[in-house]
Amino acid sequence: MDHTTTKPASSPAGTHATAAAASHEIDGFQLVIDALKLNGIETIYGVPGIPITDLARRMQKSGLRVISFRHEQSAGYAASIDGFLTGKPGICLTVSAPGFLNGLTALAHATTNCFPMILISGSSEREIVDLQQGDYEEMDQLAIAKPIAKAAFRVLHAEDIGVGIARAIRAAVSGRPGGVYLDLPAKLFPQEMEAAAGKASLIKVVDPAPRQLPAPEAIKRAVALLKGAKKPLIILGKGAAYAQVDADIRALVEKTGIPYLPMSMAKGLLPDTHEQCASAARSFVLPEADVVLLVGARLNWLLSQGKGKTWGGATSKSWGGQRFIQIDISPQEADSNVRIEAPVVGDIGSCVAALLAELGAHFPKPPAEWTGAIAERKAKNVAKMAETLAKNPSPMSFQSALNVVRDIVKANPDAMFVNEGANALDFTRSIVDMYQPRKRIDVGTWGIMGIGMGYCVAAAVATGKQVIAVEGDSAFGFSGMETETICRYDLPVCIVILNNNGVYRGDEKSWGNATDPSPLVFVKDARYEKMMEAFGGVGVHVKTPDELRRAMEEAIRSKRPTLINAVVAEGGGTESGRITGLNPTAKKK
Ligand code: ADP
Repeated sequence: MDHTTTKPASSPAGTHATAAAASHEIDGFQLVIDALKLNGIETIYGVPGIPITDLARRMQKSGLRVISFRHEQSAGYAASIDGFLTGKPGICLTVSAPGFLNGLTALAHATTNCFPMILISGSSEREIVDLQQGDYEEMDQLAIAKPIAKAAFRVLHAEDIGVGIARAIRAAVSGRPGGVYLDLPAKLFPQEMEAAAGKASLIKVVDPAPRQLPAPEAIKRAVALLKGAKKPLIILGKGAAYAQVDADIRALVEKTGIPYLPMSMAKGLLPDTHEQCASAARSFVLPEADVVLLVGARLNWLLSQGKGKTWGGATSKSWGGQRFIQIDISPQEADSNVRIEAPVVGDIGSCVAALLAELGAHFPKPPAEWTGAIAERKAKNVAKMAETLAKNPSPMSFQSALNVVRDIVKANPDAMFVNEGANALDFTRSIVDMYQPRKRIDVGTWGIMGIGMGYCVAAAVATGKQVIAVEGDSAFGFSGMETETICRYDLPVCIVILNNNGVYRGDEKSWGNATDPSPLVFVKDARYEKMMEAFGGVGVHVKTPDELRRAMEEAIRSKRPTLINAVVAEGGGTESGRITGLNPTAKKK
């Protein structure tokens, strides 16, 4: 049955609402908005322009919150982390070709990190694009998005908008979440159809992320392996944080008594100060463990692919002898690097609940020699760290500055915490404890820079909480212009730049006879805080831990957008932070 009359409207988009109301017609703009609202979408992150300017205006008019950025990459990162934090797809809206391309990095990032996100881009006229006749911002966007998105769709007719958005939502959040591309050509928006038929064509997605129950025999296999372990270890990944089943994860850890390691964005699922947390003994537990339970964590480079010297293997490629249980929603994840003896495929909530039921009331605690050895290691490393943190050198070190951040986060455990950089990332991750789930959001699976300000905006918007960001000066540069966005929306964001004047370290000399500065250094003593002042926020320049503490406390008290430029020693960093080995030039030098 074709009850639609799709035709391009002749009047400018802004006048359609009235015209459409009079003729009981609804246009493509409104159908997109209504479909998103019907599915519980509340926030749109984007950059307006042709052909989605009126869409952004009308979205705002219709009650969606439209957060407008200065660059699509930041808007995309914001959408991706909104997806991680809420479990609903984060929406990024961009213009065609260049805006679309700017958003693609974030789309790929969402897919790589398993964050649900939908990149919606306006696009040029299909007929002209396909014949390559040179349209304004001509580009075959769907084809370009496909290889890096979990799924990609295009909607050509108003009556298909409901289906297009439903498919995008399902693809983003079901199974392993990821980034989805939705191509909306300019001609779609002014198309009109009869209003009642239009409304009827929209789909409210039922059960967008269905539970996936693990097989009973998979659970039995996993528990049998765990029961026989002498040195068991649990590794919690950001999949476990995303699943939002915090009480069951905690019960699994505490009921079994097994020591656990949180991956970076799983920090705080249980407080980092928990007695079973083995973070401070990481290099001891990985090679020593005999059975490892992975919960929403992949054996990728962040875990040395589950083999090699990190895991006690004889060579950089050899297996360390650990036996693995892996809980993951993707059935293809197991065996990606080493043998997984007990794959448990399903959603983490269902898998952990089934494991808890199977463990029974009397699960044997791990041998005391194992937990005792870990406790001993931890105590030694914590004491060593305390010594370093207590030092008060001038200029400040990364550590003496982060000692302050550590105290501030402890006093404000529900603040969102954003972190990116090289040394600024690595030092912060190990020094600043997290106390609550999904508070720490950072560079993720790729270890990228540029997420900073986009994450700050989304963290503030999606949670309504205070945001604290610790940024390397290099990392901040990728998204620094979004300080204007932070000020425009008056968000409670306190950015601390650990400023050592360059990438890795600011005292790098140019190689050879070059007279230009080294490619790795920036303007010395740059006054980043003035950027925040330029937009009406608060800028503070600090050189001591006391000054930093006062500035952070004031930022949190006032809730005003604040940028603290914290000067740290130029030579305090190392090449690529802790991944020097991945940088071949560093080895050659
Ligand atoms: P980390 O970087 O913290 O180690 P990864 O991103 O490598 O974490 O791993 C996250 C894993 O969690 C992915 O393999 C993904 O398939 C899985 N995952 C995400 N959400 C769920 C869920 N709800 N249930 C089960 N597994 C999930």
